[in-house]
Amino acid sequence: MRNDSLSPEAVPDSLAGFRPPTSPATSRHADGTLVDKYGRHVTYIRLSITDRCDFRCSYCMAEEMTFLPRAQVLTLEECLRIASTFVDLGVTKVRVTGGEPLVRKNVLWLLEEIAGLGGLKELVITTNGSQLDRFAPGLRTAGVKRINISLDTLRADRFRAITRVGDLASVLRGLDAAQAAGFQRLKLNTVMMRGSNDDELVDLVQFAVDRAIDISFIEEMPLGEIGHGRQSTYFSSEEAMALLEQRFVLLPSTESSGGPARYWRIPGTATRVGFISPHSHNFCDSCNRVRITARGELYPCLGNNDASQLLPLLRAHPSDDGPLRAAIVHSMGIKAKGHDFTSQMDAPQVVRFMSMTGG
Ligand code: SAM
Ligand code: SF4
Repeated sequence: MRNDSLSPEAVPDSLAGFRPPTSPATSRHADGTLVDKYGRHVTYIRLSITDRCDFRCSYCMAEEMTFLPRAQVLTLEECLRIASTFVDLGVTKVRVTGGEPLVRKNVLWLLEEIAGLGGLKELVITTNGSQLDRFAPGLRTAGVKRINISLDTLRADRFRAITRVGDLASVLRGLDAAQAAGFQRLKLNTVMMRGSNDDELVDLVQFAVDRAIDISFIEEMPLGEIGHGRQSTYFSSEEAMALLEQRFVLLPSTESSGGPARYWRIPGTATRVGFISPHSHNFCDSCNRVRITARGELYPCLGNNDASQLLPLLRAHPSDDGPLRAAIVHSMGIKAKGHDFTSQMDAPQVVRFMSMTGG
């Protein structure tokens, strides 16, 4: 048994006074899926199980971060209740993320429990890779299907500069361990930053090709106040494509991971190159996901501040998932039509960090 449980009555002051929705919207189709008011089916949740991290990536966190007090963070049992209720409502894919999910104590227990939920097709995680060296076999045994590993550079000094504290060698060992453990479709996630790693995009793709894994390039998003403007570091997918096409043949692929990435194949290799382009290619029309933060806020849209508070419900009703279920169904009514990141690059309207929301 884990030792990070909280008593149900430990509702933090900041969340006191929350009242559950009294008239849950009927945003559920007869076939058992969650559907928002624009007709989009929600089949995928991204669950942040901690706001803590062993890195301090410059685009993600401020240098001095204050992390949440333990009592305001979902217990592992609460994470499981949330995942289980979503799966019961038709969600088929769960991504466990953070912060850094692998720094959460007893994470393997949670993953194993989620993987065993009837109706779930895919349990995947996103990690910075720092702990993969020791976790990879356990993740596989727990039932994790795929791993996304964040890697912005192949140069140790740059890696240290971007992550402020990270060690590239440990991440590369983690990648080796994941491949040795038999994970098939590993994917690298690279945030593109002008003047920081834009001269390495070709090398990163070559690295992915050599390892027969996928890579996705992400346009930086204006999430959280990080202490420096992002406008100057913004690097678009279009620019990246133009750079890569000088070296590789990129064939458009119709394959989709069900996410916002658009993929290209490099003929003669096993590698797919993806672009996640919230600025230059708005993907909101096909959005199929919602996010749950480490403190149990359900954000139907990454680029929007509307949220439902699940944690008070969980703690007020420790043995009844009805109110939680009603709140989730109700949240479909507040899912925004779309985001507008482009006009907010230097003055984010979304004040939370990606480490909080769950990337
Ligand atoms: N710590 C894990 C990791 O780094 O993979 C999981 C959480 S992290 C928040 C998830 C992803 O979000 C990472 O790939 C990271 O690069 C990305 N990310 C963080 N802040 C971002 C931002 N402002 N814009 C775009 N991507 C961001
Ligand atoms: Fe940590 Fe991931 Fe954010 Fe980097 S991107 S600081 S590894 S949560």
